[in-house]
Amino acid sequence: MKRLFPLAAALGGLALLTASCDEARADKDSKTKKTAMATADEAPEQPATPVEKSDAEWKKELTDEQYYVLRKAGTERPYGKVYDEFKHQGAGTYYCAGCDAELFNSKVKFDSGCGWPSFYDPSKAKNVKTKRDLSAGMVRIEVRCAVCDGHLGHVFEGEGFNTPTDQRYCINGVALKFVPDAAKKDDKTGGEAGKKKSGE
Ligand SMILES: [Zn+2]
Repeated sequence: MKRLFPLAAALGGLALLTASCDEARADKDSKTKKTAMATADEAPEQPATPVEKSDAEWKKELTDEQYYVLRKAGTERPYGKVYDEFKHQGAGTYYCAGCDAELFNSKVKFDSGCGWPSFYDPSKAKNVKTKRDLSAGMVRIEVRCAVCDGHLGHVFEGEGFNTPTDQRYCINGVALKFVPDAAKKDDKTGGEAGKKKSGE
C-alpha cells in the first residue's frame, strides 16, 4: 500500500495545478460579464488618438480569445456562443473590444447565415480600415480597427445579399463590445433627475 502514496501525491499536485488554471481563466472571463461578447451599460469614451500598446499590455487587458482575434488575427469558431448572443441582441452600438472605438450599429447588422456577426456598413467609417489579405490561400480584404490596429474580420462584396451596400463585414464577435440602446437610459436611479450626461 505504501507504494501507492507517491502516485496519490502526484495526482493531488496535478489537481491543484488544474484548479489554479481554472481560477485564472474565470478571472479573465469576468471581464466580459459572463457573456461571450463584451457588453457595457454605458457608451465608452471615444479614444482621441491612436491607441498603441505593447504585446504584454494587450495580453493583460484582453481575454485570451480577444487577444487571439484582435492581436493575432485569429478567427473565432463560427456559430458559437458569441454568434448566438449577437443574433439575439436588440438595438445598440458595437465598439472595438480593444480600444472602445465605435465601429458598427445594430441598424446595419443583418443575418447572413455565415456563423459570424455580419454588418453591411460601418457606423464610423473613419474607425475602420481595410487591407488586402493573402493568407490562407485566398485573396480577402481584412477589416481592422483604425484606432488600435486590432484585427476584426473580413469584408466581402457582391455576394448578392439584399442590403444597401451588398457588402458583408464578417466580424468576430469577441472583437466587439456591445452597448444596448436601452442601457443608455438610467433606470437604476428610479426617477432621480439631473444626472444624465449630455451628448454621446
Ligand atoms: Zn480598436
